[in-house]
Amino acid sequence: MPQIQTKTMKKNFLIGCIAAGLAIAGCSGNKMGSTASTDADFEAYKGRFVEKMWETNPSAAIYAGFHKYDSLLLIPDAAARAATDQQYHAMLDSLAKFDENKLSQSNKTDLWMMRDYLKSNIWYDTAFKSFEWNPASFNVAGEFAEILNGNYDKLDARLAMFDKRLVNVKAYYAAAKSQITQPTIEHTDLAIMQHEGSVEEVFGKSLADSVAASGLSADTKKHLLAYADSAKSAMLDYAAWLKEKRKTMTPENSRSFRIGKELYDKKFDFDIASGYTAESIYEKAVNRKAELHHEMANLSRQLWPKYFGKAPMPADSLQLIRQMIDKLSLKHVNRDSFLQSIEAQIPTLVKFINDKNLIYIDPSKPLVVRKTPAYMEGSGAGASISAPGPYDKGGNTYYNVSPLTGYSPEEAESYLREYNYYILQILNIHEAIPGHYTQLVYSNNSPSIIKSLMGNGAMVEGWAVYSERMMLESGYGNNEPEMWLMYYKWHLRSVCNTILDYSVHVNNMSEQDAMKLLVDGAFQQQAEAAGKWRRVKLSQVQLTSYFTGFSEIYDLREDIKKSDPNFDLKKFHEKFLSYGSAPVKYIRQLMMEEKKK
Ligand code: ZN
Ligand code: ZN
Repeated sequence: MPQIQTKTMKKNFLIGCIAAGLAIAGCSGNKMGSTASTDADFEAYKGRFVEKMWETNPSAAIYAGFHKYDSLLLIPDAAARAATDQQYHAMLDSLAKFDENKLSQSNKTDLWMMRDYLKSNIWYDTAFKSFEWNPASFNVAGEFAEILNGNYDKLDARLAMFDKRLVNVKAYYAAAKSQITQPTIEHTDLAIMQHEGSVEEVFGKSLADSVAASGLSADTKKHLLAYADSAKSAMLDYAAWLKEKRKTMTPENSRSFRIGKELYDKKFDFDIASGYTAESIYEKAVNRKAELHHEMANLSRQLWPKYFGKAPMPADSLQLIRQMIDKLSLKHVNRDSFLQSIEAQIPTLVKFINDKNLIYIDPSKPLVVRKTPAYMEGSGAGASISAPGPYDKGGNTYYNVSPLTGYSPEEAESYLREYNYYILQILNIHEAIPGHYTQLVYSNNSPSIIKSLMGNGAMVEGWAVYSERMMLESGYGNNEPEMWLMYYKWHLRSVCNTILDYSVHVNNMSEQDAMKLLVDGAFQQQAEAAGKWRRVKLSQVQLTSYFTGFSEIYDLREDIKKSDPNFDLKKFHEKFLSYGSAPVKYIRQLMMEEKKK
């Protein structure tokens, strides 16, 4: 499923280190809010909190677009982690001094999210410990690329930071080697590939060209290029070291990529921050899949004569559904008009929403549809939203659409069948209106640095998935059975992602059963399913965010509807989105409190 691309924090990349001797002053102690409990004090505290957060984790700061600490590459060893944890505990103590009941709703949620953030980071460092088993959690390339390609500052200034940051690369990889005690085969292979693949991109020709074009002194240029060479060697040496290790690794003597129930349950709680437990959402997904199959079979039977006339219907209901889906997928736009079709659909969606009174769409913030820029191609997503980061307020929001130019005729046909006439409309709802794009506009209207930096992925994806369902329920697509069938197929992907992730990491599901689930149970193509199997081996929990967020928002709406005879769908949507990208469980709590007043 296309993912939203915002420059928020990449939690999994947070190695969370602090150089010994880096100033910690100003965090603990009574300066930070011992007597404070008003919103004004809390606002000021938030500013200091975020500053401290970046100082503690300068690598994450770079991804968030905060460039004050660009020159600082922390050495990821045990001492650094201990210092970081001490820092996080001090921040938890200072946060505890605020009386949340005296804060506004927005600040109250911010406080909860800040507390969750600190606890989560401490847990990652002390319990999840991916530095012991995931060699791909170490990689300097990404941040160097951000600095090299960024447009936040002039080239000379960026290269000066780049130069200073290079000094620690060798020590960084020495520390990395000392931390990896029990790598998994899958993450070892990934790290080898990523290191060999990115070294030229960051320390190769484009760096040399930039240095040559810069106004740096001859001395600095020489220094920078020499250190870049040594950084390149350190990365390749790391890859070679992993390759050597890899020779003796077998599934029997290596740690499994499956993280197991204990870590999974906790990671789910921290990353998704849901009212559901991992197990309960898994069970809900299993039930939902059966319901969807039932519904889809009914629709396919109903549609059969229209598309297959008197031809005999397959007795097996899954086969029947697949045949009907394949048939409907033949209806698709032309490859040359893919982008224009998407562009043309945006006003149709806006009009439908206005006619049906579903949510206010701000006409002063139009969405710009564009070809996916070259540097973003290859991420695999055919369509995505790029939003400016929290430190880049003036930036535009774009709907990036892959122009299909690099595709062979067969590849283009397969892609167009996948994003056929029906699915393309659902994709536009999800990515743009009233999905991700609309949510972003609302989120920017309730500005909170905390919510834009720590925004909850399950809320964001959940809203996009919820908006698909809500549009169809409101009559989008004229209630045609074709539209509903294809929507169910699309929705089944979120449902099966949840089943797959939990089954693989907790219930030991085999590759064969995983493929069966996706191909037979979710009507996916072999290639798509194989890609999903690769993804589930390397990541954990993220695949559940779509269905979990959707379920929570849907539940909340139904609960409020039941208790309110004057329920108004438009008001519900606007209220829900007014809290920013907070976890749904917190929005629920605040909306319920509000109702009691
Ligand atoms: Zn999405
Ligand atoms: Zn075709």
